[in-house]
Amino acid sequence: MMARVKKNDTVMVKTGKDRDKKGTVIALSLKKDKVMVKGIAIATRHAKARKQGEASGIKKEEVFIALSNVMPVCSSCKTPCRVNTKILETGYRARMCNNCKEIF
Ligand SMILES: [Zn+2]
Repeated sequence: MMARVKKNDTVMVKTGKDRDKKGTVIALSLKKDKVMVKGIAIATRHAKARKQGEASGIKKEEVFIALSNVMPVCSSCKTPCRVNTKILETGYRARMCNNCKEIF
């Protein structure tokens, strides 16, 4: 199956506290259908310095969220869209925006 979302894509979050926010995909876990988005789903971790030079305190970092909770934002029409798969003449599969029918 074609990946609906790729690394460095812009996606919009559909649910949760970060609903309707947009961010860039920084990591993907296709096996688990999870995605990590910059600035989205920030978890606060209280970390203690374990090594010398490491800062202790509160760390904020992104956590994986379900791929089904995000929608890719089309780079052409800039709206969150459903993705169609189009088979190109060359035999490659491409993602096509369901909104503007552009391949992105
Ligand atoms: Zn589009």
